[in-house]
Amino acid sequence: MLMPPRLFCYGGVGEIGGNKFILKDKGVKVVLDFGTGFSDGSDYYDPTISPRGVNGAGDLFEFDLLPQLTGLYSEESLQNTHVRYSEPEYDAVVLSHYHSDHTGRIEYVDSKIPVYCGETTSLIHDAYSGSTGSPLDGHSVRRFRTGDKFTIGPLEFRPVHVDHSIPGAYGFVIHTSGGAIAYTGDFRFHGPAGSMTRDFVRSAKLEKPRLLLTEGTRVGPTDDASNMSETAVKMEAVKLVKGAKSLVFSTFRGNDVDRVNTFFDACQASERRLVVSMKVAVLLEKLRADKRLRVPRVGRDVDVYLRRKRTGKFDDSDYFTWERPFIARGVTAEDIRKRQGKVFLHLEAWNFPELIDIRPERGGTYIHAATEAFNEEGEKEETLIRNWVEHVGFHYAQLHASGHAPGSEVGELVREISAKKVVPIHTEHPELFARFDSGGTWTLEPPLKGKAISLAP
Ligand SMILES: [Zn+2]
Repeated sequence: MLMPPRLFCYGGVGEIGGNKFILKDKGVKVVLDFGTGFSDGSDYYDPTISPRGVNGAGDLFEFDLLPQLTGLYSEESLQNTHVRYSEPEYDAVVLSHYHSDHTGRIEYVDSKIPVYCGETTSLIHDAYSGSTGSPLDGHSVRRFRTGDKFTIGPLEFRPVHVDHSIPGAYGFVIHTSGGAIAYTGDFRFHGPAGSMTRDFVRSAKLEKPRLLLTEGTRVGPTDDASNMSETAVKMEAVKLVKGAKSLVFSTFRGNDVDRVNTFFDACQASERRLVVSMKVAVLLEKLRADKRLRVPRVGRDVDVYLRRKRTGKFDDSDYFTWERPFIARGVTAEDIRKRQGKVFLHLEAWNFPELIDIRPERGGTYIHAATEAFNEEGEKEETLIRNWVEHVGFHYAQLHASGHAPGSEVGELVREISAKKVVPIHTEHPELFARFDSGGTWTLEPPLKGKAISLAP
C-alpha cells in the first residue's frame, strides 16, 4: 500500500523560531525552512562557549540541535560525526523568507541540494554573500514570485506573499498526492503590506487544505492587546525626531525595509539625514533591483557611516572589497559630531563603541526599535544598551511594531482557512490553539519532534 504524504517537524516545535520541516510524498523529500532556534543549545552554548566550526554538525548533533538524517548534510559537516555521508536523498529546500530562524542551518545542508526562494530573498542572499556570507552560499538558487507554481516530484508549490518584518516573505499552498497543505511562514496583518497576508489567506482557503501549518509567535496565555502598527511607529517616530535637540541614534534590524522607510520618512519630516551602516547600504543597493519595493537610494536619500578600521586612516586596504565603494562617500564620526542636530544614525548595539569617537552632546535621543527583551539573554543585552545610553546622557525610547500577528488574528486566520487539521508551529503554546475552535470542524495536532503527521483522512 502506498503511504500517504507525511510531514515531520524537527524545529519550531513548542518554540519560537528554528523552523525545520520535512515533507515526504511518494519517495520525494522536501525540506521546508531550515532555521536556527533562538534558544538553540543555550544550556550548553553562549557567546563564551560556541560550537566548533571544525566539527561541522557534530557539536549540534551532540545536543540534538539538528536532526541526524542521512542524505541531507554536506560531507564536510559530517566529518567526525557518526552519521555517514551519502549522496543527497532530499530533493530541495524551500524557504519562506530570509530570517535566520528559517535559514540559519542551511549552511550544513549538502550544496548539491537546490534551494527555492523568493526573488527578493535571493537579492538579500546576494547582498549578504558578498559581505558577511549567506547560509545559501554554494547552493543553486531557484527563484519564485507570487503567481508562480513549481513542482518537485508529486508536490506542487504555490507561493503567496505575506506581510512580515523583512521583504520577500511567503506562505505556501502545497498540493500533495493526499490533498493540500497551507504553510503560513511568518506573518502579520498590521504592516504596510497587510493586504498581502489577506491574499495568502484567500488563496489558502480556496484550496480547502487538509492541513494548516501555522505560526503562533504571539499566541499566549494572555492575549497581548497592544498591537502597534508600522504606521503608528512612524507617527511616534516623527514626534520623537522632531522634538530631539541633538543627535538621534537607533537600533533596528537593517533588513526590515519597512522600518528603514519609517525612519527615512521621519527624517524627511524633520530635515535630518539618515545614516546607515555599510552592511545596510549594500543591502539597500541590491534591493533597488526589486521594482515592487520602496527602497531609499544610498547617496541620494541616505548616507553611509564610515567606521575606522585597522590603521584608522580610511585606507582601501583596511576594508573588504564590498566596503570599498562606500569609502569615498562615507560619513565619519567627526562629520556626525559637526552636525549632530541634523543626523539620525542607525547604530547596532555591537557598534556602540563608535559613540566614543562621535562624542555626542548630552541630551540626544536613542530609539530602541526592536523587540523588548523576552529572555535572560535579551535582558542582559538591554542592560548593556541602557548603560551606553545613560553613559552618553541620552533619552531612551522604545518603539516597535512586531513582525507577527497578535494571537487573536492568528485565530481569525485559522478559522478563515478552515483546514481539517491544524499544526501550530513557531509558538511556545501550541495547545492554546484549541481556543480558536468554533465548532469542532478541525482537529488540533500539536507537533512532536520527528514524529510523522499523516495527511490521511
Ligand atoms: Zn521571520
